Amino acid sequence: MDRLRPRNRPVFFGFTNAEIEKMEKLLKDSGEESLGKEFCQRLTKSFNRSSGRAGKPVIKWTEIQSWFQTRLPEPPEVPKNKLTHTNGLVSKEGIIRDPSELEFEARSSKDGAWYDVEKFLAHRFLSTGEAEVRVRFVGFGAEEDEWVNIKDAVRERSVPLENTECSNLKVGDPVLCFQERRDQAIYYDAHVLEIQRKMHDIRGCRCLFLIRYDHDNSEEKVRLRRLCRSPRS
Ligand SMILES: [Zn+2]
Repeated sequence: MDRLRPRNRPVFFGFTNAEIEKMEKLLKDSGEESLGKEFCQRLTKSFNRSSGRAGKPVIKWTEIQSWFQTRLPEPPEVPKNKLTHTNGLVSKEGIIRDPSELEFEARSSKDGAWYDVEKFLAHRFLSTGEAEVRVRFVGFGAEEDEWVNIKDAVRERSVPLENTECSNLKVGDPVLCFQERRDQAIYYDAHVLEIQRKMHDIRGCRCLFLIRYDHDNSEEKVRLRRLCRSPRS
């Protein structure tokens, strides 16, 4: 019967009844979270330390993760007629575009900043009918994967504003502004409040832009090179 086993999934039936009961409860309470490496490692430690494990083989965290994997429901297929948004991920015909054709950024719910998307891992629908995708961020590992709302938190990657585009920028325009935080580049949505126009010289745009960040309403004066715009504007 080996042929019927799902490929790449080590089959391991060495859990005690108490361990299975505990995992079933965690699965119900935590759902997707139970697939996380840290989550599984913590649980593995507690199992291996418990008296019920005495004299039995030590459990590996990957065995716990596989157990959760086989019990979590697969993400549903996206019904094409439900997709009506226009953020570039879905074409006018309602077909999900191959993400390799386009580059995307997604807003993390942890800090509200936008990060480049490396790939889309899965999608699902909430009971409200809203669609979500699970994204892997560029430069981050699986432990930072997040479910994000397709409509509000995924869009085509923003592009830096060129010196020649300065004159198109108006008060009230939405921009994506680069913030330097420790060693990390963080991009937040913002709006232009005020523009101090200056003569452009050989170094390009010398104008100053007063912007207000959407997430915390803080204001900052920045140069054009720190601003990006939507590729569609
Ligand atoms: Zn300028």
